[in-house]
Order: sequence, then C-alpha cells, then structure tokens
Amino acid sequence: MHESRDMKSLISQMTLEEKASLCSGSDTWHTRGIERLGIPSVMMTDGPHGLRKQKASADHLGLFDSVPSTCFPSAAGVASSWNRALIQRMGEALGIECQAEEVGVLLGPGVNIKRSPLCGRNFEYFSEDPFLSSEMAASHIAGVQSQGVGASLKHFAANNQEHRRMTSDSVVDERTLREIYLASFEGAVKQAQPWTVMCAYNKVNGEYASENKQLLTDILKDEWGHEGFVVSDWGAVEDRAKGLAAGLELEMPASNGEGDLRILEAIRNGEMTEKELDDAVERILKIVFRAVDSRRPGTTFDQAAHHRLAREVAQESMVLLMNEDDILPLRKGSKLAIIGAMAKEPRYQGSGSSQIRPTQMDDIIAELGKSAGEAAELVFAKGYESDADEADSQLTAEAVKAASDAEAAVLFAGLPKRYESEGFDRRHLRMPANQIALIEAIAAVQPNLIVVLCNGAPVEMPWLACAKGVLEAYLGGQAMGGAVADLLFGDANPSGRLAETFPVQLSDNPSYLFYPGEGDRSEYREGIFVGYRYYDKKNVQPLFPFGYGLSYTAFAYSDLTLDKKTMRDTDMLQVSVKVTNTGPRAGKEVVQLYVSDEVSTVIRPDKELKGFDKVELEPGETKTVSFELNKRCFAYYDTEAEEWTVESGVFKLLIGHSSREIMLTEEVSVISTSDRKLSFHRNSTLSELSRTPAGEAFVQRLIANLPFASALHSEHAALLKAFLEHMPLRGLLSFSGGKFTEIQLAAVIRGLNGEDAS
Ligand code: BGC
Repeated sequence: MHESRDMKSLISQMTLEEKASLCSGSDTWHTRGIERLGIPSVMMTDGPHGLRKQKASADHLGLFDSVPSTCFPSAAGVASSWNRALIQRMGEALGIECQAEEVGVLLGPGVNIKRSPLCGRNFEYFSEDPFLSSEMAASHIAGVQSQGVGASLKHFAANNQEHRRMTSDSVVDERTLREIYLASFEGAVKQAQPWTVMCAYNKVNGEYASENKQLLTDILKDEWGHEGFVVSDWGAVEDRAKGLAAGLELEMPASNGEGDLRILEAIRNGEMTEKELDDAVERILKIVFRAVDSRRPGTTFDQAAHHRLAREVAQESMVLLMNEDDILPLRKGSKLAIIGAMAKEPRYQGSGSSQIRPTQMDDIIAELGKSAGEAAELVFAKGYESDADEADSQLTAEAVKAASDAEAAVLFAGLPKRYESEGFDRRHLRMPANQIALIEAIAAVQPNLIVVLCNGAPVEMPWLACAKGVLEAYLGGQAMGGAVADLLFGDANPSGRLAETFPVQLSDNPSYLFYPGEGDRSEYREGIFVGYRYYDKKNVQPLFPFGYGLSYTAFAYSDLTLDKKTMRDTDMLQVSVKVTNTGPRAGKEVVQLYVSDEVSTVIRPDKELKGFDKVELEPGETKTVSFELNKRCFAYYDTEAEEWTVESGVFKLLIGHSSREIMLTEEVSVISTSDRKLSFHRNSTLSELSRTPAGEAFVQRLIANLPFASALHSEHAALLKAFLEHMPLRGLLSFSGGKFTEIQLAAVIRGLNGEDAS
C-alpha cells in the first residue's frame, strides 16, 4: 500500500523539472502524473453538496455539462440540521458517487464564517459560529474520506466576501482570526484530517492566502498537524515560488508550464531549496497514491437510495420559523392554494462552482399532492415572475382568486438566482418587490398563509405579520419538494435550528459599517463580535436568533449536572442534562450548550457555543445528553502569550433551546494553570502589581508614604483608591512628592520581575 511506498526514493529518481511539474495540475481537474515512474494522476472536482464532474476538460465555471449526481441541500441548510451523524452519511454518499466516477478528491466543504449575510457564497458555508461550522465540516469530511476519497477544506482563510474576492485583503486582528475565522478550520483539520486544504483567493493581513507562510505552514502544518497538501483555489496563485516556499504544494488548474519555470528559477537563484520542493512533492504524492490505492473500480450507487437520503437531509435542514395558531401541520384532505413561480421552478441549489446536475428532481406540487391526502384539492397559481421585480397584475389576480377560494395558501418565495451567487455579493437583504407585494395581497384575502422560503441566506421579512407559518427551506437540493411536503403535512417534524442570525434589517449586522471595505481593503473592525456574539452583547433583537427553530412538539429540560464544582483548566468537565418530549409527537431537539465568562479582564462575548447534540424523543420520553468540556471551551486567544488562555474564575454553563432561550444554568469555578509569568514595567498599574504578594506589599508600603496617605482614611478614600488603582508605577514619580525616584523605580521593577536588584 501507499503508506509503505518509499516516496523519498521515488523522488530521488526525478529530475528537477519533473518535480516542479508535479506542483501544478495537468489540466483543469487533474494532478500531473509521470508515466516513466508509474506516478498516476488523480481527479479533483467540486463539491460540496454534490459531485460536479464535467464531461469534458473545460473551463471550470460550469459552462459544460456535468454527469448527473445527487444534489443534497447546500451547506447553509445542512448546518441547520445540527446533525453530525446525518451529515456524515451524506458525506459517505458523496464519497461513493466519487468512487463511481473515479474522482479522487471532492472539493469541499467550505467553512468560511458568515461574517455578513451579504456574502454571495453564504449558501455554501455552514455558520456564523466556528464551533458549529467545524463540527459540521468534520462530519462531512469523515463521511467522504471513509469511502477512500479525499475532501478539500476550503477556502483557507478569511474568505468572507465575494466582492473583489481575488484581490481583497482581509485585515483581521490576531485574536479574531484565531477565535472566529481560523477556529472554523482548526477543529475540522484536527478532527478529520482532510486530505487537502484549499487556500483562498484573497489576501490575509497583506499577504495572499496562497503565499501566506504563517497560515499555510506555521499554523496549518506545524501547529494543527495537517498531513495532506494545500491546493490553490482555482487561479489563486500569484507568485508560484513564493507560494511553494510558504506551504502551497499544488497549483490548480494547470499553470501551462509557467509555474514550473518560476519554481526552477527560484531554486537556481537560491530563493528556495530543492529540499523544500522535495517536501512539497512528497506531500502531494502521499495523497495521490492514497487516492489511487483507495479506488474501487466498478462502484455503482443506488440513485433512489441517495435521493431518499437527500430528502432526509433536507427535512432536517429546514427551519420552522413561525407557526401561529398551530397553522402547521396542514390538515390532510383540505383545499389549498399553492402559489409562487418557485413552487414550479424551485431554487434548490446555489450558483457557481458548486452547481451540479441532479439525478432527478422532485416536483414540489406533485409531492404536496401526494402528502395532502386523497380528498385534498390543490390549485396552483404562479403569482409572480422569477426573473422580474415588478408585480404582474394578472398573475397577482389569479393568485388572489386561488387563495380566496382555498382553506389555506402555501406561498413559495425567496431569492431568485440573480440575487445571490458565488462571484458577487448581495447589496441588500430584500426579497424581490413583486414577491413581497404578492404576500401582502394574498394575506388580505387569506389569513391562513404559509410562506416557504427558498434562499441561501437571510432575507428581511417586513411582511412577517402577513403570514401565520414560515418555513425556511434554504436551498434544499433535489429532494426539496418531498421534504417540504413531509414537513408541511406533519409526516416529518421540523427539527432544523438556525446556524446563523436573521437580523431585522441589514444595518443591524455587526459588519455593516465596514463591509465590504474600501477598494481591496476589508477591515474586520467588529472583531470577535460576529453573529450572535454581537447581537447578544449589544442587546440587539434579531428577527430570529442563532440556534432558533420550532417543532410540532415541545421539550422540557431538567437535571443539569456537572461532575465537579471546581476544576483546573487542564481537567475535563463532564456535563449532563435531561431533555423530555412533553408534546404529542415524536420529534428531535437540538440541545445547545453555551459557556459564559462573566467576569474577565479581556473583552469576551456574552456566551459562546461549546457543545450541541441532536436527540430524537418519542412523546413522553426522556434522554440524558452528555457533554465533555476541555480547556479550549473556557479559553480565549491570548495574543501576547500566543496561546489559548483561561482566566481563573467562575464560568456559567448555559443550556439553551436557542441562543436566546436559555433553559438551565450552572456554574463551575475554573483555576487557570497558565504559567505565564507576570512581568512588570513602568506602566504596570498599582492594581496589577497587587496581583503578587511582593507587589501588594510594595504597594501598601508605597501608599503609606504618599503625601496624601492620610486622605486614604478620610471621606475621600473611595475616590483616592479608584484614582490609585490605575496609576502606573511611573506616575508615582510625580505624585510622591519626590519620595519615589527613577533609581527606586528601576529597582522595584527588577525586584518584582525576580531579576537581580543589585
Ligand atoms: C471556487 C472553488 C472551487 C474551484 C473549482 C473556484 O472558483 O472558489 O470553491 O472549488 O473554483 O471549481
């Protein structure tokens, strides 16, 4: 097998030119092989929610037909399932389809954080929360790779907008990068070891992601232990040699010899060593051989079974946002108006490189008909044109007529293709005006209005009061129709929970003032306050909060138990909680665990998601859900110490039905084991000094000698103490009336830092 193949001896038989040639593709989709040495070529292709294998070697923008494959829901929806096992099964199915098509690496999943709902590619990303995002990605990768097919975790890193995506520079401070944007990749790399990681088009803090040594080598390889290779996003290479030296092993697509020349030149003129090239080639070959050795020729897949799986994933991906008067589930056998062009021509996947050709496509109206029962009567009215924004009076009139004759109306609306896509950002969060007008017109004649939304990212809903029910179907894949029917008629119980905040209006979003930046410079000035971290802290009421979603049953929580009340940050904390289905139907609940560090010397969010689990419960059934929390769950990234640090103190553990509906709370006292030595300097304040016994003794002595010491026992004591608290050591030079000198100051600092005071 490949693991025992002697790569080094293979590499030693190559000419320099051959080695350089292996560092870019042979065409749009294949790695290069070397026949004389028996080095094969493997195919890499998109991803993430289905296989897009083009029939001919072509430009990669999807102008050419791809082979049919199962279209699963897009990541925005998949993440809303919060179901690791289900996503893993989806990954397995994707892996099998790759085997059937002899594809070695499937390009995805994408784990860029949803910084702004405007990002045109948000449908392809999981969440605004790095923990949820990395867990979803790890499950996806584990599934794909269990079938002997590699995944490609993308786009590394800070690729959070499509606007000027090939030239923009994401300017992000170190702590934010670590806690939010990199954390989303980190968990997936460490847990699931994707065979490849795809670097992004953009720059990160001034350096192209494709040339960023700190990202590609120091963090990804050295710190996180990534064993595979880094592939460029298609066309992301600027200086090939600089990229290679920084840790970008493979350039895609083919560089047509340009990359090879640049690498050879760089070795000749000493910019990089041959050893660096050898290491890159070895990383590539390891994966190429792994892919080839894992091939299962003759693999076929059961299209019907994969379609059923797509329906299951879609059911769990959709989020019931509103259900007034229990309008849902719909009564079977009733007369319904099905309205909206999107019911006939649904938007079920996003546009761009992830766009695939489905094996089959549910007809939504037919699926609704099957679920509605024999006695039901379904009348369809188009209502609006998908490719126009203006209302069409005749279509509106037909739809109003259909709705007024029915017992309820189900209206399909959302974002048409031209509103969101890879390659550009949205400018606003509005739905087309004709759709909004139609919702209002229908509501005027039919109070029982249910809106089904098909979109890849949040929309503003000024029309919300018009509807009794709202189902967020996202981009639900080829089995979207069946899944919507299952949920609307109660054959399945909604269990999706939002993996992103829906703001009331765009300007509520934390990145609003700075997005998408000026020219190529995109400053992430909101820092760590992304998504709910911002809405919580700022106390901004979202339209629908992170983690939110309704069910046709109800859940109660009890017995939140911690295995200890006090722990060192190196201990593991076991947490368990009971959840009971108190309603009339079987259903699934997503139990969410947030950690809150209420008293901290660093700025922290109100709470952060650190655990979740999805459990299925029969009516009346109770299950215990357990979590294991490690140091990282309490830590922040300390940029001075360059490590994850926990501050000693009390932390709260919150169990939530959503980020805004906390059901139970407990506390644990955590003792930091950080051995970071406090170091003192001229600007250390008296309160900082007081953290060590020697410092405290010094402060007491000093205060006693101050000219105004007696006032510390007067009515002005509180004021003076507050004044002294933030007084830097050097300030005492002026305020001690000459009793404290520069020489003494230097001696005190040396003493407190444990240096020789002589
Ligand atoms: C996209 C990648 C994709 C690649 C290959 C790029 O434009 O950003 O996500 O995998 O093309 O199609």
